[in-house]
Amino acid sequence: MKLAAIAIAGLVAGTPGRGQATIEPTDREVIVCMEQDLRVAPPVMVPAQALASKIFGGIGVRIKWHGRLKDCPERSILIGLSLTTSETLEPGALADAQPSKGTIHVFYDRISRIYSKAQRPVVLGHVLAHEIAHDLQGFAKHSDHGVMKAQWDQSDLMHMTCKPLAFDDKDVELIYRGLAQRAGGALAAAGKDSEAASKVGMLSVSSKSAEK
Ligand SMILES: [Zn+2]
Repeated sequence: MKLAAIAIAGLVAGTPGRGQATIEPTDREVIVCMEQDLRVAPPVMVPAQALASKIFGGIGVRIKWHGRLKDCPERSILIGLSLTTSETLEPGALADAQPSKGTIHVFYDRISRIYSKAQRPVVLGHVLAHEIAHDLQGFAKHSDHGVMKAQWDQSDLMHMTCKPLAFDDKDVELIYRGLAQRAGGALAAAGKDSEAASKVGMLSVSSKSAEK
């Protein structure tokens, strides 16, 4: 998404019944393996991950973080960090998700260049939540407000520094549906192949977070 910042559509409470898809609470846990890179200071990374967890916690989804890409459990989401992103790679984007592969690349060098030290954990946390949601939903869908807005503006940035942005109702419904599909093995074996094939058109529009 051309990341700009976000406007809010009301904080989504983590109450059952939000969204159409119904899944058991035990299925509302997502393992995210994120490469640890000492070039990203812990005072940025730790609160950013905590913020992403908080945003998902608001809809009753728990993020379980793993610090290594190696040994990442099956069907986890993998996040890699780039600190030397080519200018020609997704110009303006802060991150890029590939839901068909369950992978995310965060262009952290752009975040650190654009945002102040104080803003970086907040922006990174929202970028993580945004891209993880794309992977869970299974495609690149954006909303008019909140975490899944395609472009966050200055107002959104101000808002997110005070209070985390939220998912809107449709976002939540699609996340729950994606979780239910994952729990039901929709990503396994042949099911994964057909699902990926059916989404090629949509996935060709990469989801990304980018500055204006
Ligand atoms: Zn996006």
